[in-house]
Amino acid sequence: MSLKAKIVFITGASSGIGEATAYAFASEGARLLLAARRQDKLSAVASKALEAGAQAVHAFELDVQKQPAVAAAIAALPAEWSAIDVLINNAGLSRGLDKLYQGHIEDWDEMIDTNVKGLLYVTRAVVPGMVERGSGHVVNMGSTAGELTYPNGAVYCATKAAEKAINDGLRQDVLGTPVRVTSIDPGMVETDFSKVRFRGDETRAAKVYQGITPLSPVDVADAIVWAVSRPAHVNIAHVLMTPVGQANSLLFHREQAGTTGNTR
Ligand code: NAP
Repeated sequence: MSLKAKIVFITGASSGIGEATAYAFASEGARLLLAARRQDKLSAVASKALEAGAQAVHAFELDVQKQPAVAAAIAALPAEWSAIDVLINNAGLSRGLDKLYQGHIEDWDEMIDTNVKGLLYVTRAVVPGMVERGSGHVVNMGSTAGELTYPNGAVYCATKAAEKAINDGLRQDVLGTPVRVTSIDPGMVETDFSKVRFRGDETRAAKVYQGITPLSPVDVADAIVWAVSRPAHVNIAHVLMTPVGQANSLLFHREQAGTTGNTR
């Protein structure tokens, strides 16, 4: 399916997987709706996406945790941007790596409000239009963390397990319409994800990727473009993808250490 001139809405487009996905759709000639909280980063991505071949870009500030703002932003889209063809629910984050009984309540709230409630708010604002128009594709960003919980990550893993349930539920609820629903579930991807998790501690973040070649954001963007560009009658339900040195969310092989194990 050609992606030329399709309106692709990407949340969390200011960095990492969302940014790479913007460039991947840009090179297919799509029209891009880009949203995130950091306007400076988003403007830079918008300019690069135009250089990469996007037919047009409309970037706007959005905090997916804020339901009234999400509904208002989607309702206020200029007419030429309102018929969204593809929604990529990518905005998300992890905070901390703590035993559940020692976890920080504000970290839990931020992860749940962003990864679960934010995804729901955006979906609720966009999908009715897709159903009405009889076309659309929702891509949700899952994780190997949603397949298998790892120690000290119960709440982040729970948000991704919720994403899996929402993805599968939405696919059942749009059955009978042409709308497609896909979850892309990567393992370790090198982005700002770990820096955000460890609140800017770059040394701690770098350790996550030691002795392993992680996925790049481009690898994940490739999978998203592949799923969206299948023929209209094909729905890719899930794509589970990991680096070769990762078997699942618990088991890694790290070259320097020469060991296999949970060295998260
Ligand atoms: P990243 O580089 O930190 O990017 C996260 C993006 O989400 C940023 O653009 C950020 O933008 C946006 N975001 C966070 N909170 C937001 C909010 N309240 N409202 C709007 N946007 C928000 O990390 P990433 O790895 O690309 O993460 C993207 C997605 O992939 C997440 O859902 C993550 O859970 C998932 N994932 C990542 C990995 C991995 O290993 N990296 C693996 C599996 C799944 P602003 O800060 O500018 O708002």
